[in-house]
Amino acid sequence: LLEVDRVSQSYGTEKVLRDISFEMDRGDVTVLVGPSGSGKSTMLRCVNRLTEIDSGNIYLDGERITGPDVDVNELRKEVGMVFQDFNLFAHLTARQNIMLGPRRVLGLDKEEAGKRADEHLEMVGLTPQADSYPGELSGGQQQRVGIARALAMEPKLMLFDEPTSALDPELIGEVLEVMRDLADRGMTMLVVTHEMSFAREVASEMLFLDGGKIVERGPPEQLFDRPEEDRTASFLRRIT
Ligand code: ATP
Ligand code: MG
Repeated sequence: LLEVDRVSQSYGTEKVLRDISFEMDRGDVTVLVGPSGSGKSTMLRCVNRLTEIDSGNIYLDGERITGPDVDVNELRKEVGMVFQDFNLFAHLTARQNIMLGPRRVLGLDKEEAGKRADEHLEMVGLTPQADSYPGELSGGQQQRVGIARALAMEPKLMLFDEPTSALDPELIGEVLEVMRDLADRGMTMLVVTHEMSFAREVASEMLFLDGGKIVERGPPEQLFDRPEEDRTASFLRRIT
């Protein structure tokens, strides 16, 4: 479903991604880990063209999504993104936040968009909070609205950039549970997280990034239990 082929990217003279290649099949959950500044967020941003690459190619469902001729708005209908901070509209209810994309971007009418919002509110367990404003919700609930909002576009691929990093510890579990559920339903997910128990249980593959390079990749059991690279071992020892 996703093919990242020899992608490099730099800010000015600073090389941020160096020759990154990996592939994801439909239903895969790929977890990106690595130290601060290793290029994890940049990698995600390249996949939905928030950041332009210098060289290489990225393909989604066989179509090249890098290059000047690609309609970025069309691409972003297919690729959902969830950030660390939830970025909900404070003056809109949970349901209205979720309806916005389907109405504005997909052109659904109010009734269809409302129906879609209700389905996704249910999926993230927030039916009772449909008419609450973000300020009335906990951080965990707000992030679940953020996930529902991305899902309501019915994307092929979901990107998560440290979705639980801004949350109080007691609220992390409910968001991870929604993500686990989504993985069980077969969603293809590219996830940056420091939640290693989630990675171990849910990832089909892990990529360990350091200095903009993939240092090691493999199933979570390999990276956690018998890493081939010293750098992987010492990084994972530090954060688990
Ligand atoms: P973290 O774990 O802290 O989120 P990260 O792995 O997500 O780190 P990136 O945010 O991708 O790392 O950043 C990689 C490198 O690119 C860093 O050295 C950072 O300073 C640099 N960088 C990121 N965004 C920009 C930008 N907009 N302009 C210039 N440099 C940037
Ligand atoms: Mg980051």
